[in-house]
Amino acid sequence: MAVAYFCFNAELNYFLPKHQKQVKISHYFEERNSIKDTIESFGIPHTEVNSIEVNGEYVNFSYIIQDEDNINVYPISASLNTSSISLRPKAPSVIRFVLDVHLGKLATSLRLLGFDTLYSNDYGDEELAQISSNQERILLTRDKGLLMRSLVTHGYYVRNTQPQQQILEVMQRFDLFTVVSPFKRCLRCNGLLVSVDKESVIDQLPANIELQINEFHRCQDCTQIYWKGSHYTRLQNFIAEIMGRE
Ligand SMILES: [Zn+2]
Repeated sequence: MAVAYFCFNAELNYFLPKHQKQVKISHYFEERNSIKDTIESFGIPHTEVNSIEVNGEYVNFSYIIQDEDNINVYPISASLNTSSISLRPKAPSVIRFVLDVHLGKLATSLRLLGFDTLYSNDYGDEELAQISSNQERILLTRDKGLLMRSLVTHGYYVRNTQPQQQILEVMQRFDLFTVVSPFKRCLRCNGLLVSVDKESVIDQLPANIELQINEFHRCQDCTQIYWKGSHYTRLQNFIAEIMGRE
């Protein structure tokens, strides 16, 4: 039986069980396997990997591991990131997202902050991978198996389980604090909002709406009407809280 020695660096240890964290791991194997599949067999999606060094040389994901290989795997993180050896595809010029079915609250928060975010509670795994690939959208998920699909190159495993922590995590990971544009998108469908006259929407408004409200926006896609009602202050506070955590 052949053996290869793995060192997973820095934040990649997050994905490993306790006894494998921060140690050199002896990996015994018989079959020819790509380094991508082998790394993922440890529970680490390839989307989290920035670069791989085998016996001092950088390799790509298709490298077939050999007996006695010494393997260093590096995460995507600023301190270790060297563009010349990175396996990561070039980041999309505009950051856009697609989220899996379990991240509905995170999707709403991202839309509230102005980020182009596709979400539907009936997207299947194959569809999510296709959308991410075809539209160069970053796939956010807590499903590691989904990120292990070869089709997915722009993906990120969301660590936190609490929605408020999740939005902070994503803002920090993708450095989004300087590019927020709140109240620009429909929270329901991701469509862009346009300003409309009160007269044009008056018959669509609830009967109890405050008379002094004169500013209205309508979603270009689903026609949902938005105005600065009682919920507006709550949303503003939410945004202020997020931005204060930069
Ligand atoms: Zn809409």
